[in-house]
Amino acid sequence: MALHPDDVVQVADGVHRVRGGLVNWYLLEDGADLTLVDAGYPGDADDVARSVALTGHRTEDLRAVVVTHAHTDHLGAVPRLQAAHGIPVHADPVEVAHVRRERLEQVTVPRVLAEAWRPRVAAWAVRALGRGGTREVRVASVVPFPPGGPLDLPGAPVPVPTHGHTSGHTALHLPAAGVVLTGDALVTGHPTSARPGPQLLPRMFHHDPAGAAAALEALARLDADVVLPGHGEPFRGAVRDAVARALDR
Ligand SMILES: [Zn+2]
Repeated sequence: MALHPDDVVQVADGVHRVRGGLVNWYLLEDGADLTLVDAGYPGDADDVARSVALTGHRTEDLRAVVVTHAHTDHLGAVPRLQAAHGIPVHADPVEVAHVRRERLEQVTVPRVLAEAWRPRVAAWAVRALGRGGTREVRVASVVPFPPGGPLDLPGAPVPVPTHGHTSGHTALHLPAAGVVLTGDALVTGHPTSARPGPQLLPRMFHHDPAGAAAALEALARLDADVVLPGHGEPFRGAVRDAVARALDR
């Protein structure tokens, strides 16, 4: 199903949330220029282009893609954006090798099959496959974040290392807007989860589950009252409250 205009919503000044079929991505707007944060599944590439158009921009307005991490459902449209428009992709220095697929820290098909008896897991896996969840994503080049401070990109996101979900997973803080994009360090729902609300993803999705739990401390310290996750709906409330709820489940 193609993206619907209602799936693109401005959630804060200059911040657009895009609800893909199984994963969110975000567009940070600064005048004519955009930063794309995360890039959906490979099968979401047309929807990524549509979402840019729905904000009144052209794909050529994208200055960069910033990825919270290199899982296939966050990196999918990057090869096309690089090939067609030469748009650079930026990631945490620790995540760079993962983006290049020099290593892969993604849940395996056998592991998913082993969990397929759980309610919702099999149905999610079929949908993920349909969007190219097991397709190889080839990314030609990736720019590591410089140390410390905001990125010199539209929206000026500040990387917040939240290593654990993957070795170099990073959240992105927008201090002026009071927004944090949490990627998969903290979500508010997932097709494999029965209940909405702030939560950690199921254990099988984390490369380092203990690290993923510890990473919540870095989020709780941020000054933000709009929490925009990689999966699930926006949470309006202090990020420390979202973290407390996730730990309470
Ligand atoms: Zn994800």
